[in-house]
Amino acid sequence: MATKEIQIYGAGLSGLVSAINLARGGHNVTVHEKEKKIGGTLKCHPSVHMTPMHIQKMQRYVGIELESCFSKLDTFRGCISRKKFVFSTKNLYVVERGSRESSLDYFLYKTALKEGVNFEFSHPLTPEKLRSIPENSIIATAGYSQIVKDLHLPYVTFKQFDAHMKTDLGNSTIAFFGDYTSDYGYISTKNGLLSSQLSGPLNLSQENLKKFANLVKETEDIELDGWSSIIAYFPKKARLFTKFAGKIYVLAGDVAGFLDPFFGFGVNGALISGKIAAMSMMSKQIALREFKQFTSRLNKDLVAHTIYWHLPLKKLILSQIMKVHDNHLSLIKRSIPGFTDEDWLTIVSTENIH
Ligand SMILES: Cc1cc2nc3c(=O)[nH]c(=O)nc-3n(C[C@H](O)[C@H](O)[C@H](O)COP(=O)(O)OP(=O)(O)OC[C@H]3O[C@@H](n4cnc5c(N)ncnc54)[C@H](O)[C@@H]3O)c2cc1C
Repeated sequence: MATKEIQIYGAGLSGLVSAINLARGGHNVTVHEKEKKIGGTLKCHPSVHMTPMHIQKMQRYVGIELESCFSKLDTFRGCISRKKFVFSTKNLYVVERGSRESSLDYFLYKTALKEGVNFEFSHPLTPEKLRSIPENSIIATAGYSQIVKDLHLPYVTFKQFDAHMKTDLGNSTIAFFGDYTSDYGYISTKNGLLSSQLSGPLNLSQENLKKFANLVKETEDIELDGWSSIIAYFPKKARLFTKFAGKIYVLAGDVAGFLDPFFGFGVNGALISGKIAAMSMMSKQIALREFKQFTSRLNKDLVAHTIYWHLPLKKLILSQIMKVHDNHLSLIKRSIPGFTDEDWLTIVSTENIH
């Protein structure tokens, strides 16, 4: 196959997976990144992400040995209203994100360099440049850039508060559901790093954040501070291609809408869609078929989430759902591509918080 010059915008998970696969396919690949170095924005990273995943299946799919970056969870707990749940940890992993050498971003960056990928740092894609980049460029700039908006993709807006600190905890995640947000908050730990996030609709306030941080202090004796906040734009529909300024662009990661809308799991989608975006340079049809197969269930959840967000009294509805844990778990499971009943969580024990 003829060598192509391929431009990728965004050196995050999906952009790097695309770049590695395309460079291996013999193409000349340049990745344009907004930040000065690898690891995304300092407003949310370094961070620790938790993800359900079939590591072996994922490695095979993306063609990159990334297992060493993921650690199986030692503990996964939920704090739902005033009740604590301990869950089984089958197929649940934590992974570090950001610029540190122990992060997945850094690992993929090093792999891409070995494959001969070129990097242009401090090279943001801007609304002006969007009109002039070559057809078939891959756009992988994540939900927290405004590119989703600039591309005129229908989107929903989230607000996120993020904080991180050092820790001596192992590989763990605690998810918090309560009346401080209609989404959820969490803390995750790995590699001596603890990161926390509270996400929700645009009107998520400092008061909500304070309530969440107080609960973390009360239940886990962890004092979180140094919060930053970002607004994220997530497409309402998963799509691999978009037409802009008369040209077709390929989308990957958050920009392709490839993340679970209820729980914000985006690591699986970023890795898978990075591979599919690379495939699209060989055959658009095959890539589209593959993309649709992975996102058919996701698209239904995107619609459900949009409806859910517009419901009045949604906090009340959420708290009712949370009371019945089986319903709650099936809600999560539904929105994770590839997961079956056997793979998902079971509750090991529960305890009331007094
Ligand atoms: C703080 C935080 C916590 C999260 N927690 C979890 C979790 O626990 N589990 C989970 O599964 N998912 C989680 N997610 C979601 C997950 O991180 C994303 O879905 C995933 O990283 C998306 O991959 P991506 O390739 O689209 O973007 P990213 O991996 O974020 O990479 C985007 C890259 O594009 C660059 N960029 C941005 N704008 C521009 C521009 N204009 N021009 C050029 N480059 C640009 C950025 O600097 C970055 O390097 C979390 C996200 C955040 C932000």
